[in-house]
Amino acid sequence: MKAAILGATGLVGQRFVQLLNDNDWFEISTLTGSDRTAGVEYGEAVTWRMETRLKERIAGLTIQPTDPKKVDADVVFSALPAEQALGAEENFAKEGFSVVSNASPHRMDPDVPLMNPEANFTHLSLIDDQRRKRGWDGAIVTNPNCTTAVLTLSLKPISAEFGLRNVVMSSMQGASGAGYPGVASLDIIDNVIPFIDGEEEKVQRETQKILGEPGRCAGFNVSASCHRVAVIDGHTEAVFVQTEKAASPEQIARCMEEFTAEPQKLNLPTAPERPVIVRAEKDRPQPRFDRSEGHGMSVVVGRIRSDPVFSGVKYVALGHNTIRGAAGCAVLIAESMKSQGYL
Ligand code: NAP
Repeated sequence: MKAAILGATGLVGQRFVQLLNDNDWFEISTLTGSDRTAGVEYGEAVTWRMETRLKERIAGLTIQPTDPKKVDADVVFSALPAEQALGAEENFAKEGFSVVSNASPHRMDPDVPLMNPEANFTHLSLIDDQRRKRGWDGAIVTNPNCTTAVLTLSLKPISAEFGLRNVVMSSMQGASGAGYPGVASLDIIDNVIPFIDGEEEKVQRETQKILGEPGRCAGFNVSASCHRVAVIDGHTEAVFVQTEKAASPEQIARCMEEFTAEPQKLNLPTAPERPVIVRAEKDRPQPRFDRSEGHGMSVVVGRIRSDPVFSGVKYVALGHNTIRGAAGCAVLIAESMKSQGYL
């Protein structure tokens, strides 16, 4: 299938370029940019920050304006900043394109699936409601905020087996979560920034939407405290959970280790073999060593232990913010859509 990337020069756009280059289902057909870069060759416009080399074919593509008339694609991946995504993604959907978006404006729309595929595969059915209600053949489907993607994947096995009552999460988020060039080096080196604008609210409401029934938020409480730390890639989260049914740390570890979902059953190309990997060592997970597990699509959990305040459990979860938390999740969503006939 032909794939377009909107906002292709940013950090998430670059991650899409890297992942789609190695994906057998999709071939990059169009890259778009702002007025600053439209008309320029991608290789010239981009400050390439991925670990692998940029392929010559992609470097030679001319960046197009973010205009549906300039795009030739079966699926459109959006890595646009929120303000630009707001109008642009609707324009694409109205023109019949299916847009899988990283941006926040449509995530909480009741008829827009907010997908972390292993956690809520059935929410894809909202696409039918959306097409009926909005009268378009296209679609807008979103992935969660990067912190929410890591949190909800770790919570899903617990929620399915024991139910959730209260969740508290304190994050240590990598600098690439702020895009490129992101936080100034003199602000982040040797430092922790205890504020990320809008992040805590996003984590709280998106977690309830993803772990609820399609179109209905779940009733458990979520409290998030979000912090930027001097790590390049990887969001680490200290999570405290009170379950509905009593669960020991051993039971929680087992349900996480055994967890698989539709993307694994369907053998989708981007689905990791194990969505949640449990480490027994007392000093794991660590971003430098564990963020690439499952090609960046697995969440690594460690330090599962009893929590005396909640009479529940607490643990540390880690995931790659531009892969599971952004481009990788979006590609898995598109594969999920294709598998169910939505593309
Ligand atoms: P970024 O590095 O700042 O990149 C944003 C890119 O958008 C810029 O390179 C710019 O490209 C482009 N752009 C600006 N206006 C545009 C327009 N009108 N049309 C097309 N392109 C335009 O940001 P990012 O981290 O990649 O984030 C992209 C989106 O993903 C945001 O909505 C963000 O909230 C979301 N997200 C990010 C992460 C993460 O971990 N970074 C995770 C989840 C979600 P030009 O070079 O063409 O000017």
